[in-house]
Amino acid sequence: MGNKGRSVGAGVALGILLGIFGVLIAACLSDTKVDTLRIAEIRATTAAAQAAVASANAAARSFHQTSNTKDCPRCAETIKAAAIVCRYCGHEFQPQASKLPTGGPISILSTGEYHGVSFTQYTDYSVTATVGGETKTWDGALAFRQYIDDRLNPRNIPGDRG
Ligand SMILES: [Zn+2]
Repeated sequence: MGNKGRSVGAGVALGILLGIFGVLIAACLSDTKVDTLRIAEIRATTAAAQAAVASANAAARSFHQTSNTKDCPRCAETIKAAAIVCRYCGHEFQPQASKLPTGGPISILSTGEYHGVSFTQYTDYSVTATVGGETKTWDGALAFRQYIDDRLNPRNIPGDRG
């Protein structure tokens, strides 16, 4: 008797549940098309966002690699860009060699005047200037300035100093 009552109650409950589900399913079915479109839209947006993130990550990785590492020309291992000696094979890099423009034509970097002497500095950092009617070339601005300083204020002439 108790069993029967319980199973009847369960049947009623099940019926009610199924009825609720039925209503819900019907409600969902009527909106299925819209939902599918919305889901597709959300998926597309998510995919686009993920692609953008992946692309940004790849770019960051690539930048990180190109800016902080280099490949050893001798053993082809990837080592730090600042390394002067390869830690794998001991290959020695020429310091500053990578900083200078290589392969490209040398062009004018800047022009200026130092103690009345007009000079031109090139992209390989060499400096040319005409001093006393003679055009000279220096390895860098420092050497040029040193030369001009020495001309203006001779320090190495014998007898200049007591
Ligand atoms: Zn190496």
